[in-house]
Amino acid sequence: MTTVSLVGSTGSIGTQAIDVVRADPGALEVVALGANRSVDQLAAQARQLRPRQVAVADPDLAPRLREQVPPGTEVLAGPGSLAAIAAAADVVVNGVVGFAGLPVTLAALDAGRRLALANKESLIAAGPVVQRARATPGAEILPVDSEHCALHQCLRAGSGAVDEIARIVLTASGGPFRGRKRADLTSVTLDEALAHPTWSMGPKITIDSSTLMNKGLEVIEAHALFGVEYERIEVIVHPQSVVHSMVEFCDGATVGQLSQPDMRLPIGYALRYPDRLREPFGVLDWTRLDRLDFEEPDLDAFACLRLAYEAGRMEGAAPAWLNAANEVAVAAFLDGTLPWLGIAEVVEDALGAYQPTELVDVDGVLEADRQARQAARVAVQHRCRAA
Ligand code: MG
Repeated sequence: MTTVSLVGSTGSIGTQAIDVVRADPGALEVVALGANRSVDQLAAQARQLRPRQVAVADPDLAPRLREQVPPGTEVLAGPGSLAAIAAAADVVVNGVVGFAGLPVTLAALDAGRRLALANKESLIAAGPVVQRARATPGAEILPVDSEHCALHQCLRAGSGAVDEIARIVLTASGGPFRGRKRADLTSVTLDEALAHPTWSMGPKITIDSSTLMNKGLEVIEAHALFGVEYERIEVIVHPQSVVHSMVEFCDGATVGQLSQPDMRLPIGYALRYPDRLREPFGVLDWTRLDRLDFEEPDLDAFACLRLAYEAGRMEGAAPAWLNAANEVAVAAFLDGTLPWLGIAEVVEDALGAYQPTELVDVDGVLEADRQARQAARVAVQHRCRAA
């Protein structure tokens, strides 16, 4: 029996992870659940799954959580509580949204656990620090991102040597604005940006998909996870979201992973690896699949993808700046203060203020994050005044 700690259990990844656990009850057992604020939903999950521990990041909500959980369930509360439950199981699912997921990532790796990582931001923003924690005996990262899970599967067709990899090809659905030119994107609305054609996800990542920043962050994520340089990581737009990514090996063979878009497959893969989940998700019906299209991304309309490659190549704290500036810009778009095209402009302005910095520890990551947010907020204000 593999024990599982679900951090971010009430979000999109967390609730789908619970589906996966319930699909394979003989193999997986949830022993800890944690959420930021959604205590009623968290308590309902605790009544259903009977974990040993539940955690809520907002300490004010602890009494309300205590009232609702089954007797004998330990309740942890406060900012450090999500990281505290990360060491409680064999596998830790980090489904926390955004930069706040970093302490959970580090706690899981420092404890030598398997980290099923849906929080790509922690790997991107704190790359060098996370890589050090990843060297802890027993620690490993299994990506819960459909593309990287696909790459992880494809790479099992090789020997593990990085120089065997000719190219990594990351597929992108293209989001709701695929095919539009920059001039057609000046007045897109929040509802349009939130209407993702193939994947159902939380609002932050859905906006990131509409700008292709999500793909840009995934390029940096692929570099960090698999050690392949940026020159050998390509993005191709594939609107059907059936081929989840591919690896081209040095002998010319390309290996891809295909399925219907369903996050429960990558979640189950990360939980059960090296075995396979005994319940299928995302099975393809080949008789109803009439075509698979591939096209080059438009870096003029989707400047965030270009900016991500630039920040990735700058290394140091630049990916942290990219990520933090993007979080500020997306929040400003979600609350209506920034137009959609302004997201890339704010990120570009913020990166313009970046001074090359090495990342050696968590304090350095926090400081880079703080500076980048400050630069991005200035850029947002500047744009609001100009509008
Ligand atoms: Mg993805």
